[in-house]
Amino acid sequence: MKVIFEKRIYLLLVSIFLILWLVTTLFYRSSALNTREQYLIQSNQSYAEKIDLTINRYYDFSNYLFNTLIDDTTTSLMVGGSSEDPILKNTSRTELYNHLKLSYEEILEFNFRQLHFHLPNGESFLRFHSPETFGDNLMDVRTSIRLANTEWRPVQGFEEGRIFNGYRFVFPLFHENNHVGSVEISISIATVIDTLFTIEPSRTHTFTIQRSIVEDLVFDAYLENYQTSPLHDGYLFDIGVEQLSLARRTLFEDDHYERFLEHLKPLVDEPMRHEEDFSVHTTYEGRHYTAHFVSIRNIDALPIGYVYSISEDHAYDALIVRDRMAYGVISIFYLSILASSLVYATDKERIREISKTDYLTKLSNRLHFIEVSEKELSRSLRHNLAMSIILFDVDHFKHINDSKGHFVGDEVLKGLAKVLTTHLRKYDTSARWGGEEFMVLLPQTTSQAAIEVVLKLQRMIKILSNELGFPVTVSFGIVSLDDSKHLDDLLKLADAKLYQAKENGRNQYVI
Ligand code: GH3
Ligand code: MG
Ligand code: MG
Repeated sequence: MKVIFEKRIYLLLVSIFLILWLVTTLFYRSSALNTREQYLIQSNQSYAEKIDLTINRYYDFSNYLFNTLIDDTTTSLMVGGSSEDPILKNTSRTELYNHLKLSYEEILEFNFRQLHFHLPNGESFLRFHSPETFGDNLMDVRTSIRLANTEWRPVQGFEEGRIFNGYRFVFPLFHENNHVGSVEISISIATVIDTLFTIEPSRTHTFTIQRSIVEDLVFDAYLENYQTSPLHDGYLFDIGVEQLSLARRTLFEDDHYERFLEHLKPLVDEPMRHEEDFSVHTTYEGRHYTAHFVSIRNIDALPIGYVYSISEDHAYDALIVRDRMAYGVISIFYLSILASSLVYATDKERIREISKTDYLTKLSNRLHFIEVSEKELSRSLRHNLAMSIILFDVDHFKHINDSKGHFVGDEVLKGLAKVLTTHLRKYDTSARWGGEEFMVLLPQTTSQAAIEVVLKLQRMIKILSNELGFPVTVSFGIVSLDDSKHLDDLLKLADAKLYQAKENGRNQYVI
């Protein structure tokens, strides 16, 4: 009974603390995951801003070139370009080429890729990067050229072309207030990647474009400039851009980059289908990496691919370390509270036990015996049940102490206690009443049955005597509810009967 009660308390304490610990940990975990997600979103935004800045810087530069390069001679040659006369058209083209050839070579130095003139109807008039390719109409192929020539305004944005992809800056051209076509002064996406490497050399930067866009637009002869992306079958990379990216990459050594991309592939498969900005964090060979994917949009604001960057992420690393420490602190906090509660509960339980128990014999003490007896008495009266009490005292104990020593005397007391605990029923209560006096409460026991108990005890004490090697006898006083209905009276009476038994010569019972 006692042991089960203790176990229950312990179980309760442990479960309460487990639940609290779990709730706290889960609560912290959800906030930690949220922090990590916010961090990834913010770092992705900051990467997207760097791309924007790079492009805007080139836009300003392009604008500046437009204002300085495009002069009256240029626009007058564009008038010739629209002529019905093929000879005049051709000479205008040649003259325009010669007029700007040096400037074109100069702007290449600044990472500009394209200087491309178009007639008002969208026809390609002169590509400096491919002067032999002209006459194809780009009105339906290139939104930027269509907008510049129909709405007569500068247009910028990413666009895949017949030959190159790039970030386009297209300006309408006028000669003497007449619209004479448009000019594109553009950078390739490689320029953007190159600049990103300059801003952040410790990361990788590269570009990938949707397969369908390339396959729909690029001249067949130029399709070999693309290969399937190692990250996603629906995307291609531009070999030129990739070569530049590889040349400037410092993050992974040897073939680790390819292997990392293989590791990354399943993680980005789903988000790359959604064509939105995203970032993923992953652990590879014990290090933390974050991959940022910024969706690149064309002039119609439709997503066409990604600029993506991989970096070893020490900040994320720090977040993980911080979270681990927090989990540790939470656990230590709860464990120490749990430990002190268990110690407290154990101490309390021990004190309770001590307050009820006799130290030498481990039987109940007088106080506990009275408590139990009072309860038992009223229960017996209520249910009209029998109840007996036996008081016994060791005969000539003083003599045992004097002849064998106090230590042996103690052994006798312990032996008697053992007889009581082993040979009485579970619901009987035995107590050490005083020095060498013991009280036994026998619920649901008539005086007749109590005599049986006494006889049994006498037999057992005889066996104990044999074990000890000297005679030990006791005298008993037996009372029952027939004698009185009050505990005080019963106890006094038991004492009187015991006294009588002593008077009558000891080693006997009086009832
Ligand atoms: P009687 O037959 O009349 O009961 O004689 P007795 O010698 O047993 O009775 P008495 O009251 O004269 O002596 C009781 C002795 O019990 C005295 C005391 O020193 C001894 N005693 C009481 N408590 C302890 C104890 O815890 N250990 C030991 N060894 N002796 C104890
Ligand atoms: Mg005695
Ligand atoms: Mg005595």
